Amino acid sequence: MKSRTFAGLALLLAAGLLLAQDDEIRVQSTEVVPGLYMLDGADGKFAGGNMGLLVGADGVVLIDDGLPIISASLLAAIADITGQPVDFLINTHVHGDHTGSNAAMHAHGATIIAHDNIRKRLLEASGDDAVAPGALPQITFSDSTTFHLNGHTAHVFHVQHAHTDGDAVIHFTDINVIHTGDVMFNKLFPFIDLDSGGSVDGFLAAQTRIIAIADEDTIIIPGHGPLATRADLILARDMLADSQARVRKLVDAGMSEDEIVAENPLADYHDVWSWGFITTERMTRSLVQSFKQ
Ligand SMILES: [Zn+2]
Repeated sequence: MKSRTFAGLALLLAAGLLLAQDDEIRVQSTEVVPGLYMLDGADGKFAGGNMGLLVGADGVVLIDDGLPIISASLLAAIADITGQPVDFLINTHVHGDHTGSNAAMHAHGATIIAHDNIRKRLLEASGDDAVAPGALPQITFSDSTTFHLNGHTAHVFHVQHAHTDGDAVIHFTDINVIHTGDVMFNKLFPFIDLDSGGSVDGFLAAQTRIIAIADEDTIIIPGHGPLATRADLILARDMLADSQARVRKLVDAGMSEDEIVAENPLADYHDVWSWGFITTERMTRSLVQSFKQ
C-alpha cells in the first residue's frame, strides 16, 4: 500500500505535470535574503517542490532536491551561486518531488538530514520505488534539530501527521524566513497524503503553529507556489478549515462521497485554488475520505 502510494504519486506527477515538458529542466534561483535562495524550475517547468539554499563560509545547506531528473540542473544552479559543494541536505518530507535527487546530492558529498519516518518510509519502499542506499538520510531526528552556520540559526522542527507523518519545517529565526515544506501550497489546493500518515487536522494545526511564529515581515518559502507571506498562509489555512467544515456538514447529513462531489461545496474556491494535481473534485474527495479514517 505504501509503495502503491509512491508509485501513484509518481505517475500522477508524470502524467499531469511532466508530459508537456521536454527533457531539459533548468533550475533557477531567487535571492530571498542575502545568502539564502529559493530554487525552482525555470520557464514555468515543474522541477519538484520549492528548494532552499543557504550559502556561506561555514557550509552550504540545501533544503529539498526536486525530481530525480533535475539532479544535473540543480548541481549547475548551485555551482552558479557558490563554488562550495552542498554539506547538508534537509528533506522536508519523503515525496519524490522533494527527495528525488538525494542519491546524486549524497554522491557529491552532502550529508542528508531528515525526520525518522522519512528514512523509515524510504527503507520500506520497494519495486519501482526502491531507493539507492545513498538516498537514505544519514542523520535523523524525532522532534527537532538546529543548525548554527554562516551566522544564522535554522530551527528544523517536526509537525505531526500534517502533509505526511515525516514533515519538517525550517525556521531561520534571525533572518525571519520559514521553509514550510508541503505544509503550505500557496494559492493551490493542498495535497494531504492520508496514505502516508498525513491528516487534515494535523495539517491545519501545523499551519497554525507556523502562523504563530511568523510576523508580517516573515518571508515564507512554500512547498509549492510562489514566495508567500504570513497573510497568504492565514488565507490558505482559513480556506482549508472552511472547506473541511463545509464537507463535514454534508458527511454528517449522510451524503455519499459522489453525492458530495455533485453538490460541489468548494465551488467558490475553484478559480483561485484548483490546479492540475489537486482539482476541486480531488480536494473534495480527500476531505470526505479524511472523515473515514
Ligand atoms: Zn509532498
